[in-house]
Amino acid sequence: MAKIADRVLSKLLPNRRGLRVLMYHHITDAPAKDGLDVWIQDFDQHLSWAKQHSQVLAPTTPLDHDYSGKNHTLITFDDGYLDNLTLAEPVLKKHGLKAVIFIVPQFIGQNGYLSLEQLRHINQRGTFALALHSFAHLNYAQSMQHNPDDVAQDIAQGLDYFRTHGLRHLPWLAYPYGAFPKKSKPLQLALESLFKHHGITHAFRIGNRINTRQLKNPYLIERIDIKGTEDFETFKIKFAKGRCRPWV
Ligand SMILES: [Zn+2]
Repeated sequence: MAKIADRVLSKLLPNRRGLRVLMYHHITDAPAKDGLDVWIQDFDQHLSWAKQHSQVLAPTTPLDHDYSGKNHTLITFDDGYLDNLTLAEPVLKKHGLKAVIFIVPQFIGQNGYLSLEQLRHINQRGTFALALHSFAHLNYAQSMQHNPDDVAQDIAQGLDYFRTHGLRHLPWLAYPYGAFPKKSKPLQLALESLFKHHGITHAFRIGNRINTRQLKNPYLIERIDIKGTEDFETFKIKFAKGRCRPWV
């Protein structure tokens, strides 16, 4: 349950039009116990709401246009969990919607994660587009500070994996932990030039905001962290405003 204080404080925040990017991890067949889980019934309700109150984008839509006055939603999943295919896909299909999965190649085939064969199958079916979530779930904020070569290698390895295995993917990346060199403009620029070098056109942080106008920096697209332990009222507030509390 959202705290009553949050409900009151959320009134201070305006409703926003623009591009909201929803971030999911696990979809579960039982009520969520963990913030990273979203119960399948709640996910179904989220998708109905998103369809009623916005235009849900297919991940093939170019993201570099102006979102002023528009009301769009993009659905994304992080880490490449098996339940994205077994539980989330049927619900997306029921609603006629598509989503992105940000994959960590090092996790592929591990227990609870999608296998290479399943990713090939996903590539053929088209409900999900694949994109990169780093090769090894590396914290790019820390690594850019201490070992920038590790980041360069990680990006190259991630893209190599897709290439070697013939997996189609978007030239997009979601920062693991939402971490990018927030406090250092030079490191941010160095990371952006690595992205450009490797053909990555868009990168997603967390931030819990709606992208309201033009995507000023395509490497800092905001996403909204959807937690299955929060109720539907909280989801609706986050959907309309990006976040529940003015200072968080
Ligand atoms: Zn992750």
